[in-house]
Amino acid sequence: MRPFEYIRAVDVGHAVATAADRAAAFLAGGTTQVDLMKDGVLGPRVLIDITRLPLRGVAAGGGLLRVGALTTMEELAADPVVTERLAVVRESLLQAASPQLRNMATVGGNLLQRTRCRYYRDLSCACNKRAPGSGCDALDGHHRMHAILGTSEHCIATHASDLAVALVALDAIVYVRGVAGERAVPLTGFYHTPGDTPGVENVLEPGELITSVDVPLLPEGARSAYLKVRDRASYEFALASVAVALVITDGVTRDARIALGGLATVPWRSRAAENVLRGVPVTPEACAAAAEAALRGASPRPGNAFKVELGKRAVVRALLMVAGLP
Ligand code: FAD
Ligand code: SF4
Repeated sequence: MRPFEYIRAVDVGHAVATAADRAAAFLAGGTTQVDLMKDGVLGPRVLIDITRLPLRGVAAGGGLLRVGALTTMEELAADPVVTERLAVVRESLLQAASPQLRNMATVGGNLLQRTRCRYYRDLSCACNKRAPGSGCDALDGHHRMHAILGTSEHCIATHASDLAVALVALDAIVYVRGVAGERAVPLTGFYHTPGDTPGVENVLEPGELITSVDVPLLPEGARSAYLKVRDRASYEFALASVAVALVITDGVTRDARIALGGLATVPWRSRAAENVLRGVPVTPEACAAAAEAALRGASPRPGNAFKVELGKRAVVRALLMVAGLP
């Protein structure tokens, strides 16, 4: 681990000002940041501990939930409004990591966790995300867990967050503080696909801090769920996951939200799939057509070609489950 200076931020302004003029990183729950520093993948000169900042808690009002960035995953999952109105969020959280991790890990940190691509974490491997221009060992390597949507010839790593998939489906808004002030960023526009700069993962400027996330509540009567397909039942990242929210009246889908995880380089909202469903009777055939639309344009590699069919089946299963169809 490279030597670094540790600073405990006393308020948000102090955190942001300290981060603005140095090669700094924030420390929240530390469940990603510390691992990557120990492994030498990340090497900030300054680590700014934000855990004492007043950014923890969940408040409902005005048709949305405001979630402080330091709220833990477990706290958010246990929130009564989440339990009652946002099943997709609760299920995405409870199928992520382990209870011990979820008690430490924060919402802000979860959205900014790094990929689990093994080549990214192994300093002996070529990785354009870690070392721009060095190449990508995953392309011809072991890429079973890698992405088939939103990829480029420079990077095929998946985004690892489950919560982000649910929040992208719900049109969550991320609030960010920098030295220039606060701005609001829709989560659907927050992440960058890798293109030819895989190291630039999101819209944050150096030193910007996530302060909170607004999650619009689903309308009364909406049903939602998060389906995660993985190699074992706990403590494992998604091979494929689907966040679904549907409003169905008289057997017709009035509104549909669909997002994919484990399949794409960013939490992947599929408006094409949503458009297939909107305004038509909810049937197994309509669900299958939506799944086709969701995976259209996938570009798998030999080791992850199975994810195209897996992804489609996951979409169909999640839709049938939420629609209450066999
Ligand atoms: P940190 O580790 O403290 O920070 C993560 C990154 O975010 C750092 O770069 C940090 O600088 C930055 N950061 C943190 N907070 C802010 C902020 N407010 N503003 C700006 N930058 C910030 N996740 C899943 O979604 N699904 C899983 O199945 C899953 N399984 C896991 C299994 C294991 C064994 C482990 C170790 C992790 C797993 N995770 C999983 C990831 C876990 O959820 C994340 O590590 C965690 O959410 C990160 O939150 P943290 O508070 O610990 O962030
Ligand atoms: Fe690095 Fe992306 Fe290639 Fe993984 S897939 S080795 S993160 S460039």
